[in-house]
Amino acid sequence: MSFEALGLHAAIVKAVAEAGYENPTPVQAQAIPAGIAGRDLLVSSQTGSGKTAAFMLPALHQLASAEQAPLGRSPAQEAQSARARGERVRFRPAQPKMLVLTPTRELALQVTTATEQYGKHMRRIRAVSILGGMPYPKQMQLLAKNPEILVATPGRLIDHMDSGKIDFSQLEMLVLDEADRMLDMGFIEDIEKIVAATPASRQTMLFSATLDGVVGNMARRITKDPLVIQI
Ligand code: AMP
Repeated sequence: MSFEALGLHAAIVKAVAEAGYENPTPVQAQAIPAGIAGRDLLVSSQTGSGKTAAFMLPALHQLASAEQAPLGRSPAQEAQSARARGERVRFRPAQPKMLVLTPTRELALQVTTATEQYGKHMRRIRAVSILGGMPYPKQMQLLAKNPEILVATPGRLIDHMDSGKIDFSQLEMLVLDEADRMLDMGFIEDIEKIVAATPASRQTMLFSATLDGVVGNMARRITKDPLVIQI
């Protein structure tokens, strides 16, 4: 089984080959075709199983397929022309298409780096990390570019949502990475609030070491007819 045979866009297959991946891992072989088909996924797998590519490759594939549609101008470009016309600039919230929630800053940065690697042959796919501890002005600058993909830790994301910097009405894909760890860290209310702010029509993928107990309950509440993958 090759990455090409899983149905991925040529630009993604090329980036994956350049990353030195020869064949999909078992979790990727199951998750990628279902993800491309738009299914929700509940995946129980460990770090090192290739889970980042298992959610990011089908997500990038979907964004690449939507790329044909004419793209609007970014809020930063609009602000620039408004300023040139001497108008007062109103802040427009970022409208991401994909959100990845992770328990830690380190994991968020790893996911963002992997996304840049997998998406390097695609036009206009920008991924930004929203993390606790990063200065707010820097994050506002990143959000003003209206990135397609946000990778965030829940607490800091809530701060930006509460101050109106992010609008999830255009969100197509939600990923919860290491969901059990996020719950262990006490993020359940933040996660519930974030999920409630996203459209019901979104595709949801949840990755966790275990799918039992509290995490299993939440997983089933926030997904629709998910494919359950246990590696
Ligand atoms: P992850 O489980 O996403 O943290 O990935 C673990 C490591 O495996 C990372 O260093 C990835 O770059 C690498 N990796 C992911 N998928 C593959 C693959 N299909 N072939 C070889 N290495 C991979």
